[in-house]
Amino acid sequence: MNARHRFRVKPGRRFRPHDVDPDETGDYRHKSEVDELTSAMAREIDGLQQTLYAERSRSLLLILQGMDTSGKDGTVRHVMSGVNPQGCFVTSFKVPNAEEASHDYLWRVHHAAPPKGYIGIFNRSHYEDVLVTRVHGLITSKEAKERYREINDFERLLVKHGTTIVKVYLAISKDEQKKRLQARLDDPKKHWKFSENDLTERKKWNSYQAAYAEAITATSTPEAPWHVVPANHKWYRNFVVAKLVHETLLKMDPKIPDQSAKDFKGIRVR
Ligand code: AMP
Ligand code: MG
Repeated sequence: MNARHRFRVKPGRRFRPHDVDPDETGDYRHKSEVDELTSAMAREIDGLQQTLYAERSRSLLLILQGMDTSGKDGTVRHVMSGVNPQGCFVTSFKVPNAEEASHDYLWRVHHAAPPKGYIGIFNRSHYEDVLVTRVHGLITSKEAKERYREINDFERLLVKHGTTIVKVYLAISKDEQKKRLQARLDDPKKHWKFSENDLTERKKWNSYQAAYAEAITATSTPEAPWHVVPANHKWYRNFVVAKLVHETLLKMDPKIPDQSAKDFKGIRVR
């Protein structure tokens, strides 16, 4: 399976939430069938990042979006588990603080984009600025459309300057979210994860789905297409996102720079 093609939202094609079955697990039925593959890919991602660093001319940016409890944190933990912590930057975007809010919405995002040689991960992103803001009526439909264009231009700029962007929407069902939120209430060890606000946002499920559908349709560009990943089963979600990152790095095909011009003959370390 080529995950980059299988889960991609084709640029120009309208995306609707029911285009994806969050319960899907592809050719697999059980966690045990993919866990080894996921770990092997995580190890290879580490090697590829190291070469990317040696090359120092390009970077990879993974953007993770999804409803509350869709597993953005878990995905980062599993997919990046084997990667040298020095080789990647993870940024979790929260409600903008006073300084961030005093700039345009892309200011903090551009600042967090990965430097050449690194993998950057956005846990939430500039897409919150066309999702939560839209659902809460903080921007109009017209403003949202302007922002889709700004976002496409911004991402094109990053791509032009050497960043490969992988955008992932983790698709869970409303029922699965209910189970996960209830588990956070029932299990004292998960209480810290519970936020009263998640219940308020859950009531706006349909508005979020509509906002996601519109945003994904408008911003799945040839330079930076979206991938919609079925995420009700955590093991399959981890497998698919690892595969997306792995395939993307293989396609980038980083190379250790040519050192043949250097002449080390006769140099002795004393
Ligand atoms: P969590 O991911 O659970 O830590 O929650 C982060 C919260 O920050 C979510 O409720 C997001 O909707 C919110 N958030 C992130 N970025 C923005 C933004 N640009 N504008 C408004 N809220 C945001
Ligand atoms: Mg939360």
